[in-house]
Amino acid sequence: MLNLIIFGPPGSGKGTQSAKIVEKYKVTHISTGDLLRDEMEKKTPLGEEVRGYIDKGMLVPDDIVIRELQETAERHMDTPGFIFDGFPRTIVQAEMLDKMMEERGIPINLVISVDVDEQELFKRLMGRAEDSGRSDDNEEIIWKRIEVYKSQTLPLLAYYRKQGKVASINGMEPVEEVFENISHAIDSLMAV
Ligand code: ADP
Repeated sequence: MLNLIIFGPPGSGKGTQSAKIVEKYKVTHISTGDLLRDEMEKKTPLGEEVRGYIDKGMLVPDDIVIRELQETAERHMDTPGFIFDGFPRTIVQAEMLDKMMEERGIPINLVISVDVDEQELFKRLMGRAEDSGRSDDNEEIIWKRIEVYKSQTLPLLAYYRKQGKVASINGMEPVEEVFENISHAIDSLMAV
């Protein structure tokens, strides 16, 4: 099984690259952002609770996100692999994911870390704001999300570096080049 995490700040292109990875490597894409937005659309009490966090640019509490993630992953255990996008975002989530995958003998193989500088992130997110229709794509909340990323999520890189699983990719290049570099990292992993 090929189990990947795509890691990077909001606006780094994780969604775009995930779609290309899914097409080439036939892995199952699990985006917690998408799962949570689906929940919001249902307008259930849980969805409304989730909206309270997302619209402020805050992380949704670990127990909610972990439950969504587990339920979705369980339904796809017959897949050739996973790509986790937007998850994990905290150490608690990373430890839970490691435990879940190791228990099944299908550990995470590679963390693809996509680097993009802050000004560029902001520019991209503001640029997509009109089309995305996302309530969290506005100036104030975008900065907040970038801050939350730096304080709560970035420390995860050290966690995965210790495991020797991180491939750093320059996300400032054109989409096709970024994808080529990601493909190289995946292919060299599969070659060993
Ligand atoms: P982006 O990375 O562009 O901000 P996402 O769709 O990954 O977009 O996430 C949007 C929002 O959903 C986050 O700001 C956060 O509130 C919530 N969210 C998504 N994934 C997680 C997670 N793993 N843990 C906590 N909150 C999450």
